Amino acid sequence: MFDLLVKGGTLPDGQVADIAITGDRIAEVAPKIDADAREVIDATGDLVAPPFVDPHFHMDATLSYGLPRVNASGTLLEGISLWGELRDIATVDEMVERALRYCDWAVSMGLLAVRTHVDTTPDHLNTVTAMLEVKEKVKPYLDLQLVAFPQDGLYRAPTGRQNVIRALDMGVDVVGGIPHFERTMADGAASVRDLCEIAADRGLPIDLHCDETDDPHSRHVETLAYEVQRLGLGGRATGSHLTSMHSMDNYYVSKLLPLIAEAGVAAIPNPLINIVLQGRHDTFPKRRGLTRVKEMQALGIDVGWGQDCVLDPWYSLGTADMLDVAFMGLHVAQMTHPDEMARCFTMVTETNAKIVGLDGYGLAKGCMASLVVLDAADPTEAVRLRPSRLAVVSKGKVVSRSARGDGALSIPGRPDAVRRRRGG
Ligand SMILES: [Zn+2]
Repeated sequence: MFDLLVKGGTLPDGQVADIAITGDRIAEVAPKIDADAREVIDATGDLVAPPFVDPHFHMDATLSYGLPRVNASGTLLEGISLWGELRDIATVDEMVERALRYCDWAVSMGLLAVRTHVDTTPDHLNTVTAMLEVKEKVKPYLDLQLVAFPQDGLYRAPTGRQNVIRALDMGVDVVGGIPHFERTMADGAASVRDLCEIAADRGLPIDLHCDETDDPHSRHVETLAYEVQRLGLGGRATGSHLTSMHSMDNYYVSKLLPLIAEAGVAAIPNPLINIVLQGRHDTFPKRRGLTRVKEMQALGIDVGWGQDCVLDPWYSLGTADMLDVAFMGLHVAQMTHPDEMARCFTMVTETNAKIVGLDGYGLAKGCMASLVVLDAADPTEAVRLRPSRLAVVSKGKVVSRSARGDGALSIPGRPDAVRRRRGG
């Protein structure tokens, strides 16, 4: 007797399979499993995928849109300045409440693992206290990974470095940084070296906000790749954003990308945010500010899509739906070949899981029993429709259900319901 049986679903690779679950693990995956289960989900004709993973988010700021006021210019810098006010007036309880509410949204969308950057700038470190509390509270159903993020700079803020160390001592999981925001290029490069050494000494992953600017001379990813290689951090190092690469000289990039690939540095562009925050100093033509996604993938670099923000000082929209992120990324990076469209789905599932180092991820026997049933036939259709998450299973338990998104029609001679799926 299994605890849960998900029957007849189509997996992302196209095979149709039943998935049997015992406790928090997948017990069996086979074309047909004839056994009893305490609970059965009929997924016939629907896509069954491992859960969505967001490798780049800011949960200390989420759902704070309009506090203390909206970002009128829409720029990254006004966002940073607004957040600088909010982080000192928001209480720990308020941040915890907003984050938990956001995690409810995430679960309903099948998003069950999030890496969030936590601002370590204020000496009170209320942000860190709040996010450590949230991490414990959501642990039974959502994996939250915290990054020590010196928003105002490691060296630029007087206690920047000291507070990153304090946050890591409090139990934060990943080393973060923001080299392009330090006072000079030299300070930025020094911060990358320093942070990589901290990560190496502590045996932690590193994930830097890196070159989030349209300035083609912002080249801190080069230093990151060099230091990662020198210190043997390959496979647990990530450059987030990398937007300056959009504007870099092509010859320079032809030398840079192989270095990133050899070093084993992953990349996380955040298309919803990059497309609205970058290019703000341009007239026309106005740059897109998205990094070189397909070009990096062609060299074997792991590139995942991140969400970054939902309803906060930097972004006034967002739904916790990683398919929204994949949809925007597909458009901005022009990933329209059938293989590329399907890859956009893989990026917000498997690739992101690999980048953040999730254990037991996938739909094979022995993996963690976490999955999502989507009202779509295949991964590309899921990106196109961003459909209902019919059922979400986390660690063996059904944690959310949604109705199909069918429309009702009242047109003589036409069907009375419409599903918008390719098959009708
Ligand atoms: Zn970010």
